[in-house]
Amino acid sequence: MIGLGSIGKGTLPLIERHFKFDKSRFSVIDPVDTDAKLVTERGYKFHKVALTPDNFKDILTPLVTEGEGQGFVVNLSVDTSSLDLMKLCRKLGVLYIDTVVEPWLGFYFDENAPAADRTNYALRETVRKEKKKKPGGTTAVSCCGANPGMVSWFVKKALVDVATETGIKFKEPADRKGWAKLMKKVGVKGIHIAERDTQRAKEPKPPNVFWNTWSVEGFLSEGFQPSELGWGTHEKWKPANAKSHKKGCNAAIYLEQPGANTRVRTWCPTPGAQFGFLVTHNEAISIADFFTLEDGKKVTYRPTCHYAYHPANDAVLSLHELFGAAGKVQDKLHVLEEDEIRDGIDELGVLLYGHKKNAYWYGSQLSVEETRKLAPYQNATGLQVTSAVVAGMVWALENPEAGIVETDEMDYRRCLEIQMPYLGPVKGYYTDWTPLEGRPGFFKEDLDQKDPWQFRNILVR
Ligand code: NAD
Repeated sequence: MIGLGSIGKGTLPLIERHFKFDKSRFSVIDPVDTDAKLVTERGYKFHKVALTPDNFKDILTPLVTEGEGQGFVVNLSVDTSSLDLMKLCRKLGVLYIDTVVEPWLGFYFDENAPAADRTNYALRETVRKEKKKKPGGTTAVSCCGANPGMVSWFVKKALVDVATETGIKFKEPADRKGWAKLMKKVGVKGIHIAERDTQRAKEPKPPNVFWNTWSVEGFLSEGFQPSELGWGTHEKWKPANAKSHKKGCNAAIYLEQPGANTRVRTWCPTPGAQFGFLVTHNEAISIADFFTLEDGKKVTYRPTCHYAYHPANDAVLSLHELFGAAGKVQDKLHVLEEDEIRDGIDELGVLLYGHKKNAYWYGSQLSVEETRKLAPYQNATGLQVTSAVVAGMVWALENPEAGIVETDEMDYRRCLEIQMPYLGPVKGYYTDWTPLEGRPGFFKEDLDQKDPWQFRNILVR
């Protein structure tokens, strides 16, 4: 296991619970040893080292090849290249899983890189290129956390629900094209990964600290990337700073502004209508790409897809403070531990909109209280991620020669079957809400009144 941060710590006890393995050969790698005791007191090895482009092969190869059986690399670190790690693993016949396409240190804050090069689109394309170049082979699961990850399984479940409840005759699709055809048939215009984190700390946030419920570094990295979204075929308007890509799948566009300072209108069951941040995420691109239909080279259907994230209130406040301070990151970054949180839930789901029943949210409403009963060392946000990692690991063990896969390409029923006991209430809700609700108010607005589900109405301008 690479990385013993908030996600690594939470995944460790779940790996012990779900898998039989040779204890003497379990190793954890992290340059920071604050929590190393968690590893060593269980009888596993802890390697205090940062993986770099120069050392990763030498460090990992003996750990995953010595002795019998097939090795498994679970990558839960920041600042290590997912692509390089998965290439090495596949060469050695070792299974691999991660929760994001992570680059080596320096990528996110490279001031000389053009915006297009700092996108998740660019990162994802590197993995898709490798998949194309070397199809099949040892399984490497790319981006299998909560989102990216679990939400791709939710999208299929939600689509089946809406298709059933709107009376559409269908057989559950067996391949990508079949799923895309069903999405089109149901009339889905777009999908929000709609999240509301209501977990609140026992104490109020002091000034000049950044508080979050998962990696602050991870959140800042993606938050400072350009805002990015899968771009649907129903869209009639684009922001002036929207850009498309010259190469690759072309399923997404990016905006020349940071995602953590880009707001969109969205909906979750607990708050109802809310603002979310359009932070870039791999799933915004992979889902839009997966559900694309083409006629020759012409794209005939694609849903818009993007993240609409209302993080914990303390994180919203932290962002406000940061951008207000001319973008200067706070002196102290801190992930709220489970025992620092008073109460709250992480409501994380998918909102399928534009169909006959308007919009449908399907997702997990896991509370921190329930999380405490289910698994140690994590809050609700963490458990949604770590349980997806476990589900992905089971799937990889059951499908060890599937090549490089994204969660959209995995068996959603099997994965959710494994993960469901960790997700608290998992429910679907229909809503009449549209981004035109209550608008225009006192002031004139640039709206598309004919189609509420245009990005023009969703983006806060
Ligand atoms: P974290 O910051 O708490 O932990 C990251 C760990 O990586 C730290 O312990 C750090 O010391 C270690 N690390 C840093 N550089 C390293 C290197 N060169 N080699 C090895 N280890 C190194 O972050 P987290 O909250 O545990 O998140 C871990 C990863 O999971 C991040 O990439 C994050 O974006 C991702 N994540 C994905 C999801 C999802 O739903 N898909 C959700 C949360 C986090």
